[in-house]
Amino acid sequence: ETLLARLGGDEFTLLLSGVEDREQIERLAQSILDSLSAPFALRGQDVALSASLGIALSPQDASDVETLLRDSDMAMFHAKNQGGRGYEFYADSMEEIAAKRLELENKLQRALERNEFELYYQPKVDVLSGCVTGVEALLRWRDPERGVIGPDEFIPMAEETGVIVPIGDWVMREAMEQSMAWQKEGLPPLRVAVNVSVRQIDPRLDFVGKVVSLLEETGLDPQLLDLEITEGALLSDEETAIPMFQQLRNVGVGLSLDDFGTGYSSLSYLRRLPIDTLKIDRSFIQCIDTSPSDAALVGSIIAMARVLGLRVVVEGVETRSQQAFLVELGCDEIQGFIFSQPISAEQTTEILRHKKALREAGQQNTVKA
Ligand code: C2E
Ligand code: CA
Ligand code: CA
Repeated sequence: ETLLARLGGDEFTLLLSGVEDREQIERLAQSILDSLSAPFALRGQDVALSASLGIALSPQDASDVETLLRDSDMAMFHAKNQGGRGYEFYADSMEEIAAKRLELENKLQRALERNEFELYYQPKVDVLSGCVTGVEALLRWRDPERGVIGPDEFIPMAEETGVIVPIGDWVMREAMEQSMAWQKEGLPPLRVAVNVSVRQIDPRLDFVGKVVSLLEETGLDPQLLDLEITEGALLSDEETAIPMFQQLRNVGVGLSLDDFGTGYSSLSYLRRLPIDTLKIDRSFIQCIDTSPSDAALVGSIIAMARVLGLRVVVEGVETRSQQAFLVELGCDEIQGFIFSQPISAEQTTEILRHKKALREAGQQNTVKA
């Protein structure tokens, strides 16, 4: 006996009874996925559906309807998180994972309310002049219990749960206000780069409107704001993302393609993207001075960027020898531990003041001479 129901939205529930073994369910699940993924014509266009299936068994997983539904829902969620187009059987461990997620989500939300996030800044240095051209704002979480926590430990979860949206709003405002604070102090204007997650550019959230009103509110010159986005994010919904960033470019905001080389951009793609800068990912730089093929690869990326009129920033530069190679290959800017680790706003301010003082002293000397 089989019962198929639509419980709401795009979720369907299938109740099977008299199931003999898991293989039988697996075969059925696979055939559902296969038939859904077969393309069909819709208003003259070929479209295909994908689905994620979660499976719970009775009496093994639960013996009452509510628990069985909840378990299959949780399994479905897992299947979805595995990238979709698949099925998962419910497992007890999912419960723990779900509880941990919820806990971290709550913690991140609370961290935001309690002002526990902080921006660190890492300079980008112009290869030719040796001047700092800008800084990248990098998020840190000062957890009262655990100390300073790096973004790799919480951003993926923040993205999954969506908390990255309010966190990202905070990051943008904070970075812009900091940049204005430096300017008000008479420190040389620096471009500040902010990382943007794919969740933030959801068309329902009016990302462009947010950026524009923050610029107005803080008074920051749009030319001094850079947004960094990965190609995956930019291409995930290109029909809305590309015009969105085109609009921001028109306002004067810079756009860098982050982690370049780790995704799948083809040349023809790059030409269509409203970007002005490529940031070559750290993974290419590690062996640049020992691996001729890595060096050749970076060299050709830089050559290609030239043709497209893009600036090239290389991140993750740690050694003199890597730096020398990159200068030879013709990159524009370098960011990496060779110049500085990401440092707190206070430390950045100190360094900027120091540089300003040195320059003023230098000017006085030349005036005297
Ligand atoms: P990313 O955008 O690729 O940022 C560069 C990362 O490389 C930073 O790690 C930086 O500290 C590190 N790095 C820079 N130079 C060197 C070097 O010479 N050697 C090595 N080993 N590492 C270097 P961080 O700060 O831990 O950030 C990690 C990632 O977290 C970032 O990668 C970015 O994807 C994400 N992230 C950071 N802040 C934010 C944020 O405000 N919003 C969003 N959505 N993501 C953020
Ligand atoms: Ca970045
Ligand atoms: Ca990177």
